[in-house]
Amino acid sequence: MADAMVIDGRALAAEVLRQVAEIAVRLRDERRVTAGLAAILVGNDPASQVYVRSKRRACDADGLASFEIRLSAQVSQAALIAEVERLNADERVDGVLVQLPLPGQIDAQSVIAAIDPAKDVDGFHPLNVGRLWSGLPGFVPCTPQACLRLLRAVHPDLSGAEAVVLGRSNIVGKPVAALLLAADCTVTTVHSKSRDAAAICRRADFLVAAAGRPKMVGAEWVKRGATVIDVGINPMTLPGGRSGVVGDVDYTSVGTVAGAITPVPGGVGPMTIACLLHNTLLAACRRRGLPDPFPLSS
Ligand code: NAP
Repeated sequence: MADAMVIDGRALAAEVLRQVAEIAVRLRDERRVTAGLAAILVGNDPASQVYVRSKRRACDADGLASFEIRLSAQVSQAALIAEVERLNADERVDGVLVQLPLPGQIDAQSVIAAIDPAKDVDGFHPLNVGRLWSGLPGFVPCTPQACLRLLRAVHPDLSGAEAVVLGRSNIVGKPVAALLLAADCTVTTVHSKSRDAAAICRRADFLVAAAGRPKMVGAEWVKRGATVIDVGINPMTLPGGRSGVVGDVDYTSVGTVAGAITPVPGGVGPMTIACLLHNTLLAACRRRGLPDPFPLSS
């Protein structure tokens, strides 16, 4: 049993979704606008199918329209980009996302660059990446945004804290580091070439683990009282033969050292989906020149 405070991602995400649902109703009643999110799914990757399904369910539950485009694993890059361009031009669609990873014949960066930056609710387009690092308004990627929301639920003021991010991918590690820096943390990024990753992580007041390595972070990686955000979603066969997921953090041992910790599942995952809906409503308002519906959080 963990001694650490458990950061309940489902409960915190439900608060964001309540706000999302309220704003969706207001947009519909006052402006006759139904915000729409389109997801392109290429191939049959089981995890991607689960993610796209949960995004669609969240849209249905909270008053957003959802569009799902399924393409074969053999689709050409040109055909995929043509689909993105069709969604860019579709007035019913406010947010366009392409579920990653993509098959080997497709260059993901070229596809991301084809998304209209005003509909780039994943925040992966180079223009939005640049805006994030420059402190300009854009779209903040959903998982990194979720990490900061969970961290802020425990520490409203992050200023001056030592933060370590384990992982430097474009979709998680780097944007998390940008957000922590913008929140006035002292930020260190650890990656596969870092010397003595455990010692660096042990300095952290806030540790965000996004390495994609099951239970890599043990108690000896964590300073007593630190807050640990576990981004990892690693498919696993659980005791009893059931399939499930584990994080990048060894929850049981780290829970005896950390001050607060996110569980997997039930931590970053649900908040990520809430942030996606948040970004879609933001896109719907910005595209129509309406005021920011979340003035305090976006
Ligand atoms: P990724 O692209 O594979 O990046 C992993 C990063 O971890 C890389 O920067 C890599 O370093 C670093 N790393 C790997 N092994 C390491 C080691 N032994 N020591 C130090 N650094 C190491 O993964 P990702 O897309 O960022 O995703 C990370 C995890 O988050 C995965 O489990 C993924 O499923 C999960 N995820 C969850 C959500 C969510 O909604 N909760 C969303 C996205 C991803 P190098 O750069 O040097 O290779």
